[in-house]
Amino acid sequence: MAKKDIYRIVDGLKDLCTEACRTIWDHPELAGEEDFGSEYYSKLLRKAGFRLETNENVPHAFIAEWGSGHPVLAVLGEYDALPGLSQKRSISKKEELTPGGAGHGCGHNILGAAAATAAIALKEAMEKDGLEGTVRFYGCPEEELLCGKVRMISYNMFDGCDFALSWHPMSVNMTFDSSYLANASFRFSYKGISAHAGFAPQNGRSALDAMELTNIGVQYLREHVIDGTRIHYTTDSCGYAPNIVHPEAKSWYYVRAPHMADVKETMERVRKCAQGAAIMTETQVKFELLSGCSEMLVNNAFSDLTYRNLLELDPIEYTEEEFEFARKIQDTVALETCMRDRRAYDCDGSMFEGIAPRDQWARTPMLASTDSGDVSQIMPMNLFTAAAWPVGVAPHTWQATACAGSSLGEKAALWAAKAIAAVGYDVLTMPEEREKITGEFEARKSSNYVPMI
Ligand SMILES: [Zn+2]
Repeated sequence: MAKKDIYRIVDGLKDLCTEACRTIWDHPELAGEEDFGSEYYSKLLRKAGFRLETNENVPHAFIAEWGSGHPVLAVLGEYDALPGLSQKRSISKKEELTPGGAGHGCGHNILGAAAATAAIALKEAMEKDGLEGTVRFYGCPEEELLCGKVRMISYNMFDGCDFALSWHPMSVNMTFDSSYLANASFRFSYKGISAHAGFAPQNGRSALDAMELTNIGVQYLREHVIDGTRIHYTTDSCGYAPNIVHPEAKSWYYVRAPHMADVKETMERVRKCAQGAAIMTETQVKFELLSGCSEMLVNNAFSDLTYRNLLELDPIEYTEEEFEFARKIQDTVALETCMRDRRAYDCDGSMFEGIAPRDQWARTPMLASTDSGDVSQIMPMNLFTAAAWPVGVAPHTWQATACAGSSLGEKAALWAAKAIAAVGYDVLTMPEEREKITGEFEARKSSNYVPMI
């Protein structure tokens, strides 16, 4: 089947795709709470003729499968939202829809919609052409806590897959030849002895002091870690008054680095800061690993194939109203940020049109983390981004939430669905491409990968 026939199949699913974008945007659920999202996509895929499989150990995760035999394609879908990003749809100023509520600031509403649409389109294409193979839509929860797919791997939900297809909304259209950072998320719980802070401070042992001394130790540690390391933390509210020596305190850390081995090493050194602080303050500290995800394993052969498919696709056409909306959104971003991104992406206007050349930007490391990194460790995975919001807008912002709920997001989803379906079709029908991609994966993969949780 020609590519234009695949695009036609996806165009035939436009209403389904748009409705999914809107419905999930209207029901923002935090990581770990995706009752509505997982149910919505389960029903959608079942109705489209897919078999469903769940795993009691990974709530809100599911596999929807169609076809038989190899190759087995895993199309990755997500549906979780972010706290504090509730935002009205399609307006160019910050205005909460639900005070303090969640919002789709990472565009996972359109991410999941495009993935589901692509999986259904692939099924149709395979049926028409009588192709051998299996297509699976993976309902992946808890991406924002960087743990859903890691747990799915731990419980063997990705067993039997040959290739993973993924995308993410962003401000540019491009393939990735660079990695994301590996990450560990962990908590310290300190225990001390409470006392009256004025009357008998000598009797107290402060958990809060221990937490603060840990953080100070970490500030000194920053000078002695490898480039690309990121250490950030937050503290749980202690809930005590200043006149009480705090018997309890908690902090939550992220350590990121280019490779998981570096993350583990730095995490151990952060733990030593906490142990040292506990000795200094005569308190106790408990360490708890919450989640951890690996860096992305690059696959240039898969990126080549994806890039060729992105070039073949007609660019998204925007209306004057959409450009106007994008310009207004862009105006709310700090001018320097906007100009920097416009220079970096060689973009004069508000929306990035065209495909970013691979040699220039695709190799810039992404200084964030994703649990898709773990999927790339166990099978060849591609990743591309599609412009869903204006250049200068970053994910995890109200601006991204507003755009993900607008026609900009919906158009990005349909475009991404075409790209995923086209790449998937190539993988199914081009054994020489499969060989190249698998060969590169085998050469690069780590023999000692284990999921962190
Ligand atoms: Zn995301």
